[in-house]
Amino acid sequence: MNDATKELYREFGISDKVIEISEEVLTSLKERFQRIDENADLCTLKVLKAFQKNNVNESCLMGTTGYGYNDLGRDTLEKVYADYFHTEDCLVRPQITCGTHALALALMSNLRPGDELVSAVGKPYDTLEEVIGIRPSVGSLAEYGINYAQADLNEDGTPNLENIKNAISDKTKLVTIQRSKGYQTRPSLSVAQIADIIKTVKSVRGDIICMVDNCYGEFVEPIEPSDVGADMVVGSLIKNPGGGLAQVGGYIAGTKDCIEKCSYRLTAPGLGREVGPSLEALPRLYQGFFMAPTVTASALKSAIFAANLFEKFGFESFPAGSEERHDIIQAITFGKPEGLIAFCEGIQAAAPVDSSFAPEPWDMPGYDSKVIMAAGAFTSGSSIELSADGPLREPYTAYFQGGITWSHGKFGIIKAFQTLVDKGLIL
Ligand SMILES: *Cc1c(COP(=O)(O)O)cnc(C)c1O
Repeated sequence: MNDATKELYREFGISDKVIEISEEVLTSLKERFQRIDENADLCTLKVLKAFQKNNVNESCLMGTTGYGYNDLGRDTLEKVYADYFHTEDCLVRPQITCGTHALALALMSNLRPGDELVSAVGKPYDTLEEVIGIRPSVGSLAEYGINYAQADLNEDGTPNLENIKNAISDKTKLVTIQRSKGYQTRPSLSVAQIADIIKTVKSVRGDIICMVDNCYGEFVEPIEPSDVGADMVVGSLIKNPGGGLAQVGGYIAGTKDCIEKCSYRLTAPGLGREVGPSLEALPRLYQGFFMAPTVTASALKSAIFAANLFEKFGFESFPAGSEERHDIIQAITFGKPEGLIAFCEGIQAAAPVDSSFAPEPWDMPGYDSKVIMAAGAFTSGSSIELSADGPLREPYTAYFQGGITWSHGKFGIIKAFQTLVDKGLIL
């Protein structure tokens, strides 16, 4: 950090002591950050190759309105995504409103009454409990007579392949595999672990659909779950693949058959993918996907820095500061509500938008306890932008993610750390 930057840090309320501690931690991370940059180089070229192969040209940036027939830009973007993920097909739409919607769509499109859904890695993400009907909910899969079973994890949070085999029955049609830990403290899965799960499932019956909830995982590793046999990978555009520019949207990449079924559920039987205008969304969706590998790299560096900084002061981090990453989420456990709240306040205070507001715990739809969320984002709710959230329950863990530039991610973490210092919770 040069002197002019340090001076500005001080103006933002950061003490010399905190600057010094931060610099020490950053120096120790140089080599790791270089490896992250190398992966971003690789992923950028993969994306560029998909753009050029599909001849993305200026006319692809024009949107359509109304029914959206013959939407060249939309159809080309879907081919670009399919090529990046090495899948037969893909849906990428602003009409898919979020990650939960994309996952619900993928499930509801491919399951029929009497079928069974299995989660291979224990309890799924909070909002999926209502989609599946684990928590009774209007319109859930359970209401349509689709049963659910889950394979519990090992005690250390790793997948248990025996449990997965045992959870599969004659009725099992689809197995869902959540790559990222979400609001849990189990380890996120590597693509290699996902490969083992898929191999196990397919060894029981080859026609079981393997779906991966890919939220927060895109571009973290050189390959994606669809490179190791996943039939569908599903995610949100206001996370990694939107590169901080997409303002709404979700994607489902997968086999021709699975994606065709999704298209008829997304719009209507008979209409499928032919309708759905891209409106004005395309320039941001293209540019966001193009930026996504480097944006994800910034988010990864921010996560690793946060883990190493807070660990130094005794706060438990998942994954640990030294561990390999499989997603961009960093969990930091504070043990008491004050720590979680102070951390979120610091992140909010560092934001480019809404920095004058203080975040407060609230009853967020889809979650079963109060949640505190810090985000001063250009796109509402975007969690590829610097953000932190966590449910107000034991052990008071903040889930920190994002940072569309590393310069800002770094500052946000330092500001959050300083907020804990100011409240007498550290140092
Ligand atoms: C964010 C997330 C979801 C849900 O996405 P929303 O866009 O918030 O609806 C599902 N699964 C995982 C693992 C996630 O991280």
